[in-house]
Amino acid sequence: MMMKMRSNDDVRHVVILGGGSAGWLTAALLAREHHAGEPGGLAVTLIESPNTPPIGVGEGTWPSMRDTLRRIGLSETALIRECEASFKQGSLFQGWMRGASASEGDHYRHPFSLPMGFGDVDLVAGWLQRHGDRPFAEVVSAQPHVCAAGHAPKQASTPEYAAVANYGYHFDAGKFGVLLREHAVANLHVRHIADDVGEVLSHEDGDIAALRTRAHGDIAGDLFIDCSGMASLLIGRHFAIATRSCKPQIFNDTALALQVPYAAPDAPIACETIATAQTAGWTWDIGLPTRRGVGLVYSSAHLSHEQAEQQLIAQIRKTGGPHDPGTPRRIAFEPGYRERFWHRNCVAVGLSAGFVEPLEASALALVELSAAMISDEMPATRTEMALVERRFNDAFTYRWERVVDFLKLHYVLSRRDDSDYWRAHRERASLPDRLAELLALWRHRAPYRHDFFRVEEVFPAASYQYVLHGMGFVPEPTARLRHARVGEAAEPYFRETAHLARRMLGALPLQRSLIAHIHAHGLPRG
Ligand SMILES: Cc1cc2nc3c(=O)[nH]c(=O)nc-3n(C[C@H](O)[C@H](O)[C@H](O)COP(=O)(O)OP(=O)(O)OC[C@H]3O[C@@H](n4cnc5c(N)ncnc54)[C@H](O)[C@@H]3O)c2cc1C
Repeated sequence: MMMKMRSNDDVRHVVILGGGSAGWLTAALLAREHHAGEPGGLAVTLIESPNTPPIGVGEGTWPSMRDTLRRIGLSETALIRECEASFKQGSLFQGWMRGASASEGDHYRHPFSLPMGFGDVDLVAGWLQRHGDRPFAEVVSAQPHVCAAGHAPKQASTPEYAAVANYGYHFDAGKFGVLLREHAVANLHVRHIADDVGEVLSHEDGDIAALRTRAHGDIAGDLFIDCSGMASLLIGRHFAIATRSCKPQIFNDTALALQVPYAAPDAPIACETIATAQTAGWTWDIGLPTRRGVGLVYSSAHLSHEQAEQQLIAQIRKTGGPHDPGTPRRIAFEPGYRERFWHRNCVAVGLSAGFVEPLEASALALVELSAAMISDEMPATRTEMALVERRFNDAFTYRWERVVDFLKLHYVLSRRDDSDYWRAHRERASLPDRLAELLALWRHRAPYRHDFFRVEEVFPAASYQYVLHGMGFVPEPTARLRHARVGEAAEPYFRETAHLARRMLGALPLQRSLIAHIHAHGLPRG
């Protein structure tokens, strides 16, 4: 249906379609930073279907979530108390190198804290020269020691959102959405409409004019944010922006998810997402205070759904879960992202923009980056919007490409030979070109910041070092790397790291006791 040409060029009203984590995070940020509810402020309306619940998975975040929650004015104590949240300090990978068990040495850590001295000296050269028999992450960072011992990343006296060791969260995704909604509506003046959108109304020039709801009439706006999840109602269905598939590089297309109880109520809460490689995918294990969230993500071309269920249940039993954990929920997805994210007066955030797979929890980090860029560059007029559209599409095409590169790094270095899945991951045709080039360079030098030169990269060069050397990648010793003084320069940092690890282990509480303390007393306000 067509409507009249607009008479006004100003952007005054943002309409968000969808009330999952993407919709509420974006709504809260825009409302807070553009003074919704005040004279001259931006009006923000969020429409969500009462009949289509949010996806309800997505329990691991990056440390960036701390900044995002601080930006929207939410208390960290409320997050911990109301969303079953715990502190996540990185990921622990098991069985990715050879398909052996962690006790046989097939494990490595990707902590959130940067290595001490990163960017100042060549830590990789120093590690190889004198400490190559020990895991890279344990030599260059104190955080793996903190995680292995089950300690929290801060003390009871550390203010909200401040850290001793860098951290993000594990939380209950459903409860997180409810907390965001309550905060956005009660404190930030977001208008909430619970209704189904059935039709998109357009201006003559092709812009979206309004969304037609079942019971609340037509909701007109100047900018429309598509947070409708995998349905992708605006950018996908209405504007028919195609998806760029990542299946040739990252094969996983199905997930099974379950929630299981702890064997005992005082069992330790893991400080990292535990990612255990399986024959055609991997299982995640996320520790919340009262339960674990577990799941298997796999390639349906390489594993039947029955085999997948058996693998997940076997993994749950092996890790102390119940013998009969129930029937997992199955979620199918097409790994990929849109060719454009912003089109005319519509921008996609969250699953409507794309989804690759849950490894390294990049999805919510991309939601945060998207919401932040929309807020920072909010166009004042429709005319200006075309410039922001171009900048946004450029930034996020780059970011999604880097996500695919980084995830592929975890697979391509594996020496597992127990299935076609792992062998196919090593075929050159499945390797993104930019990653292939970088891997050739990294044979003679470590990843460093100029390999990832944009402001706010999703994954910093340090993350590449952790995964690369965690997976057993050893550079060829060129003349520069062999030079004794290059390695010696790293020694003071390694000594300081070992000292810091001892101090942290003495000073930081166990994860479960800190969470119990926060439930009882809260954290000091920052
Ligand atoms: C198995 C799995 C594991 C994951 N794990 C992680 C993780 O550990 N970390 C991470 O960062 N991310 C993870 N993700 C991704 C994460 O779940 C999502 O990025 C995040 O939840 C955001 O989802 P969303 O808000 O885009 O969509 P959804 O939660 O699906 O929300 C869609 C919204 O659109 C509304 N809607 C749909 N149709 C209509 C309509 N016609 N009218 C009105 N409203 C409508 C719905 O009511 C709903 O409110 C995972 C994803 C999967 C599949």
